[in-house]
Amino acid sequence: MIVALAGGVGGARLAVGLAAVLPPRSLTVVVNTGDDFEHLGFAISPDLDTVMYTLAGVNNPVTGWGRAQETWSFMSALEQLGGETWFRLGDRDLAVHAVRTSALRRGVSLSEITRMLASRFGIRHAVVPMSDSAVRTRVKTDRGELSFQDYFVRLRCRPRVEGFRFAGSRKARVPLVLQRIMRSGKVQAVVICPSNPYISIAPILSVPAIRAWIRKRDFPVIAVSPIVGGVALKGPAAKMMRELGSAATALGVVRYYGDRVDRWVIDQQDARLEHAIERERKAVLVTDTVMSSRGKSTRLAKRVVAFARTLASGKQ
Ligand code: GDP
Ligand code: CA
Repeated sequence: MIVALAGGVGGARLAVGLAAVLPPRSLTVVVNTGDDFEHLGFAISPDLDTVMYTLAGVNNPVTGWGRAQETWSFMSALEQLGGETWFRLGDRDLAVHAVRTSALRRGVSLSEITRMLASRFGIRHAVVPMSDSAVRTRVKTDRGELSFQDYFVRLRCRPRVEGFRFAGSRKARVPLVLQRIMRSGKVQAVVICPSNPYISIAPILSVPAIRAWIRKRDFPVIAVSPIVGGVALKGPAAKMMRELGSAATALGVVRYYGDRVDRWVIDQQDARLEHAIERERKAVLVTDTVMSSRGKSTRLAKRVVAFARTLASGKQ
């Protein structure tokens, strides 16, 4: 069993590859729920949806969020009525939020409703939210503390970041399926996908049971750098690193994760950082990590899985 930790786009891209190379019983994708929020009465889980849509092949590859072949009747009707339109909800996307919201109201857990939605999308691998109770990312900025979607969508990541808080993480309810996997002793590796370290992976690691499980691990943790050639392929990861005083490079990411990661996969564009990362006592794999197609996701996933399975000669 391999457990992958994922946010949205970068996480989903590697998840697609891992799902292509591992049978369903050998992969669990644990997804960030720190971005979740309530809007217009709907329970919205952006990263779960991105992972689900991408695995099902119904994602919109241009925007990086929402569904392909989307229509926008709801949005234009809403606008005519003077409703809130800063958060875009397509018609097909909305159906997912409606199903999720009504299930949650009936008392179904987020992990259970995610399992049901994923199976309706024909996904055979397990997609599990990091928590069944609310954990909400709060962004500390030069304009005060903001809710995640205020920072991310409404203010387009313009405020300067000073730190993060994951409200509710201490009391997070880890889904039973994930508890069982963590106790099973059958996990061969954890793969940290190339997702935003601060707002996609840190919320997952802020859940005490998950953090403790990884700290006491008897398996390697392999991470793929989300920073390629000194930039983030999408989103504010590099900007956040600079604002928090860290170098926006693969080496900066390695130092940020510290001893939570044993082996690093960095992009060929960053090959010159290999020795510096080895000096941080990490095994390093240099390869093409830009997953611009499903084929490229699969190729990278194969290398990541092989790297995870090598004996830990380079470790410590
Ligand atoms: P979000 O929740 O949609 O913002 O997505 P994530 O946190 O999962 O991913 C954002 C990060 O993924 C950014 O830092 C990107 O640089 C990184 N990313 C996206 N696509 C790729 C890719 O193909 N390869 C690598 N190495 N990183 C990627
Ligand atoms: Ca996200």
